[in-house]
Amino acid sequence: MSNFEYLLSPIDNIKGVGKKTLSSFNKKKIYTIFDLLWHLPISKIETAEDTEIQDLQLGKNYNIKVTPIKYNFPRIRNLPNKVICEKNGVKLDCIFFNSYEGYIKKLLPLNEEIIIHGKANSFRNKFQFVNPTTKNSSNLNIINNESKYSLSDGLTLNKYNQVINNVLQNLPELEEWLPQSILSLFNHVKWKECVIKIHKEEITKIRSTKYFKRLVFDEIFANFLLSSNIRSKIKKIKKKNKILNYQHQSKIIDSLKFKLTIDQISSLKSINKDMGSKQKMFRLLQGDVGSGKTIVSVIAALNVIKAGYQVAIMAPTEILAIQHYKFILENFNKYCNPEILTGKTEYKKRKKILNDLLNNKIDILIGTHSLYQEKINYFNLGLIIIDEQHKFGVNQRKKLSDKGGKDCDVLVMSATPIPRTMMMTIYGDMDISLIKSKPKNRLPIKTYSKNETRIDEVINFIKREIGKKNQVFWVCPLIKESKKMDHQSATEKYKYLNKIFKDKVDIVHGLMSKEEKDKVLNKFNDRKIDILVSTTVIEVGIDFPNANVIVIENSNKYGLSQLHQLRGRVGRGNKASSCILMFKTGLSVNARKRITILKNTNDGFKIAEEDLKIRGYGDILGFKQSGLKKFNLADPIQHEDLFNIAEKEVKKIEKNNFETNSFNKLIKLYDKVAVINETI
Ligand code: ADP
Ligand code: MG
Repeated sequence: MSNFEYLLSPIDNIKGVGKKTLSSFNKKKIYTIFDLLWHLPISKIETAEDTEIQDLQLGKNYNIKVTPIKYNFPRIRNLPNKVICEKNGVKLDCIFFNSYEGYIKKLLPLNEEIIIHGKANSFRNKFQFVNPTTKNSSNLNIINNESKYSLSDGLTLNKYNQVINNVLQNLPELEEWLPQSILSLFNHVKWKECVIKIHKEEITKIRSTKYFKRLVFDEIFANFLLSSNIRSKIKKIKKKNKILNYQHQSKIIDSLKFKLTIDQISSLKSINKDMGSKQKMFRLLQGDVGSGKTIVSVIAALNVIKAGYQVAIMAPTEILAIQHYKFILENFNKYCNPEILTGKTEYKKRKKILNDLLNNKIDILIGTHSLYQEKINYFNLGLIIIDEQHKFGVNQRKKLSDKGGKDCDVLVMSATPIPRTMMMTIYGDMDISLIKSKPKNRLPIKTYSKNETRIDEVINFIKREIGKKNQVFWVCPLIKESKKMDHQSATEKYKYLNKIFKDKVDIVHGLMSKEEKDKVLNKFNDRKIDILVSTTVIEVGIDFPNANVIVIENSNKYGLSQLHQLRGRVGRGNKASSCILMFKTGLSVNARKRITILKNTNDGFKIAEEDLKIRGYGDILGFKQSGLKKFNLADPIQHEDLFNIAEKEVKKIEKNNFETNSFNKLIKLYDKVAVINETI
């Protein structure tokens, strides 16, 4: 077995790991030997068994050789059982909660020397171990160093150490993959040496060492190289270049009610350049909420249609799909023939749409993300636009770029601003266009916070706004895991507001049919109602420029980025707008922080960075929910410097046209970690 095969082999290849132990490891998401390496010890165990009792340091874990000399099993409920042990004339108590006498006697037979394991504590000036375990002395010779790991059901510390020690002893020496210039940053420490070190040192101390940092760097570097590799593979795909008609484009731009911003124009230019080239486009259009991504993508779509191809647009929610459809139908039906397809489209209609697509009678299809799953045959699909996605991983996107065939370009839009260190991590496989500045007519959104006991003040505020012909979003508490309860709370609020505002209020929620939702949204759009009560279905993308007040109930329940997205539903027109964050008494420190940050800034990138600091990067962008790759050791906040070095290094490699093949081993090892759980 080669070094790599060994590292990537399943954990039950190790001697002594049977089915039961394997399933315990799997519960901890440890499948291969390589996985095991990144579960670091929580603390180190002092292993010198000949430590004297008087030398024990409180709070540390020990293996220590003692002799049990007396049992003390009180017959009184709630009093623990005790075994008094001795070493060189000094006594130590072993205290057992919830343990049977029989078990204790077997564990610690009297007058026999034995090595016990536990954490040193003291009680009334006497040393004690609570619920100690013992070591099977036959293991002792092979284990000369021990650490404490977090365990799961069915795993004992003994077993765990036996397995990890076995692995560390057999750890292969790998051929060096880091360039010398990088290695010198870490004092030329070797991969193998580092792995062993991080398992044998106090975790709190190891993080700042060159050993740990080198391994962090390996992880980041591998990740970036992987993306770079995918990108270069996509770039190698030759496609038929699209012949774009710029006069046609000018006509469209001139007909708009507004002037495109500089960033919009330059994004459009890059997109056109990609589409007109012989390389497949794989581009991310990133911009804060309300920065005007839609129009850029629609112009690109119309260009592609004029060039003789079809376009597919995918939105994350049905409401958003409907809105895109209408936007195109109402403004650009001169230039295209759009159709909409969602999970709720009736069978007959669906059949007709699929047929029309195949016969090129429809040139632009708008739908929800479920369009991925469906087998849809196009006449000649030339562009896929994916709106508001931020939960796909590198490999999912790779699959996406393969869809639609060779001549099909891919444009992904994201409204989730992310800190720079994460850009390469998440979107390293794509080319990126950024819309930084928002349209000039925008006034800042004023953000207020209000305790929900003061709802009367909010109602008065709304009355004044409605008096000025403004419209209001009212977002109801998010109740996780229960659509039904979301629905209930929204319905109740609707009834409450209905008493005050009569038929000027309506409601949308997830349990309504497309037609029902559509009707209500239309009413709101046509200003027949002033207040739209909803659950968070309005979170992404929806665009009603006349709505300029948003009330968010139980705002403390949302993450920072999510609140920013919600707030982005207003402030899209040219009126001053406000966001009212309502909360219950007794806010947590973090909730208070979030509210303060939102009050202070409207800059999505800044908010994303703050969010990252509060939540840790694993939570941002909903990584946890989506099963996206997560680093084992690296952290974009703590290791910002290493991310930057890795980015530079990869750019250098790309520029010099190095074959990334020379790094294939590194990628291969770390890639396994990166692709778990990705399905499309
Ligand atoms: P997002 O980037 O969040 O998807 P949208 O594309 O929905 O934002 O645009 C938000 C609003 O801004 C829309 O009403 C759109 O018509 C308008 N808009 C887009 N570009 C401009 C511009 N250059 N000037 C003024 N308004 C614009
Ligand atoms: Mg949008």
